[in-house]
Amino acid sequence: MKLRFWGVRGSTPTPAAENFRYGGNTSCVEIRSALGEIIVLDCGTGLRLLGKQLLREFGPQSIEAYIFLSHYHWDHIQGIPFFEPLYNPENRFYFHSFPSHACTVQEALDQQMSAPHFPVKMSAMEAHREFCKVEKDTFKFKDAILKTVPLNHPQGCLGFRLESAGKVIVFATDNEPGSEEHDRNVRKLAEGADVLIYDAQYTPFEYANFKKGWGHSTWREAVTIANDAQVKQLILFHHDPDHSDTFLETIVNETQRFFPNVLAAWEGLEIDLGRDQHLKLPDQSDRRTASREPFRVPLVVHGKGKNGVPFEENTVLENISIQGAYFLLENDPDPDTLMDVEFQGKTESGDVLPVGAPMKAVRSQLVRKYPVELPNKTKNGIAVVFR
Ligand SMILES: [Zn+2]
Ligand SMILES: [Zn+2]
Repeated sequence: MKLRFWGVRGSTPTPAAENFRYGGNTSCVEIRSALGEIIVLDCGTGLRLLGKQLLREFGPQSIEAYIFLSHYHWDHIQGIPFFEPLYNPENRFYFHSFPSHACTVQEALDQQMSAPHFPVKMSAMEAHREFCKVEKDTFKFKDAILKTVPLNHPQGCLGFRLESAGKVIVFATDNEPGSEEHDRNVRKLAEGADVLIYDAQYTPFEYANFKKGWGHSTWREAVTIANDAQVKQLILFHHDPDHSDTFLETIVNETQRFFPNVLAAWEGLEIDLGRDQHLKLPDQSDRRTASREPFRVPLVVHGKGKNGVPFEENTVLENISIQGAYFLLENDPDPDTLMDVEFQGKTESGDVLPVGAPMKAVRSQLVRKYPVELPNKTKNGIAVVFR
């Protein structure tokens, strides 16, 4: 099974520079079974980007996917009107969820695409669509089984467990601890999972003081469940709109003290369970999606180290895209401060930039950092996005 995150945010999209590292789109996760069946969990705003990727991948071929909605809150369905493959009559989509407030699955989804909320009705979507209510708790695919349980959330919510080729992914978002029945449900669902994706919207402090009864959980509860259910990899999910990248990093650091194999989901994170990648994270510099060109130009990087001391280091640009750059540093920059990256005009093979052109440093934000082994030393691989 392969897993890819298209939206990781809870409640409302948060497109802002301080959220670039983790991303601002709401809940949407794509899973490919070992035989390539497409299973989509939730249709938050991340679904729009998945749609574009599917169009690129399938070209003129038709697309078929099984869609499971945890529930009907905006942050879990708002991507549907903007999912382009739904407008092509050649494609087939099977929506699954639970009937809610006297509405069928289809009615609950039709409502968000009706006057005065949206100009186009859902019936204008020409793809073959089927709407199935989740009655039995198990679905069989060609080479995968999906199980569902109710979670503790206002107006209801479903948790999902997907098993394929001996691997298990559990998706349990929008769940508040404290109900005996649901606490039991979520532990049973997560039992022995290779990957548990779990609602960690609030810090324990926020939850205890302001957010009881809002239907969400904390990283601390995520750790307890992951330990109780003997989960291999914990992924914190449904990030609060007010939690910036920097804040999420501190949450991950804190969580690691209790459960080392944890990370906070970011948009674009991919895990291939077939290769046991849950034990080894994918290359975290892959946050930039634009194509990257090797472009070796001397750089001077001005920044502040983790110890608070400013540094200036000469290095070489390794590659660049329209969004950012990658280079190696001996210094260890503080992720919460910006760096100034100054491009130099001369390389060993001559001028690459107009001689005498005024070179302005580019304000850059650290996105990812990881050690790079060189023959005689270790440096920091630094991925930045331009601000
Ligand atoms: Zn939500
Ligand atoms: Zn919700």
